[in-house]
Amino acid sequence: MSHNPYAPPEARVVGRAASFDGAQQVWRAGDRAVFRPGDDLPPRCVKCNADAEQPVKERAMHWHTPWLYLLLLVSILIYVIVALIVRKSAKVSPGLCAEHRLARRNIILGSWLAALAGMGLMALSIDRSSGPLALLAAAVMLGSLIFGMVKGRIVYPTHIDAQRIELKGCGEAFLASLPQRR
Ligand SMILES: [Zn+2]
Repeated sequence: MSHNPYAPPEARVVGRAASFDGAQQVWRAGDRAVFRPGDDLPPRCVKCNADAEQPVKERAMHWHTPWLYLLLLVSILIYVIVALIVRKSAKVSPGLCAEHRLARRNIILGSWLAALAGMGLMALSIDRSSGPLALLAAAVMLGSLIFGMVKGRIVYPTHIDAQRIELKGCGEAFLASLPQRR
């Protein structure tokens, strides 16, 4: 008996239109999930391909060409203004199963607790007038916030334009359930 662990669950018409079949609209290109604007991900966990916990939250994703980061060398303000003008946005509903939703919640909670610990360290460094302790506190705060932002993302766009949305961060089980195209 052959059993494909990556095969999508049989009953996966959940929410949205009953005719919704994500496998037709979403495809895989390497390590990215790709679809057209107006379409969306199927209601399955993007990490392990189990049925997604309902309701799946719709999230706004933004993307601009990485070249724009060169503007940071000129001015942060100019970068922010230009990025806000030229960035492309898309509404995406990346699903998570109960287990992966909990794991994500714990990462976000943990990074906030670490940031709070960093703030405590900062107060202590001021109390003791300790420069090295203040540096350590700043590193802990910044590090935990960046960790939370990066690890707390469910998926993130690597390209958005009028024809195509590309997302990274999906698990292999989810990607393997999608048809392969460019
Ligand atoms: Zn999962």
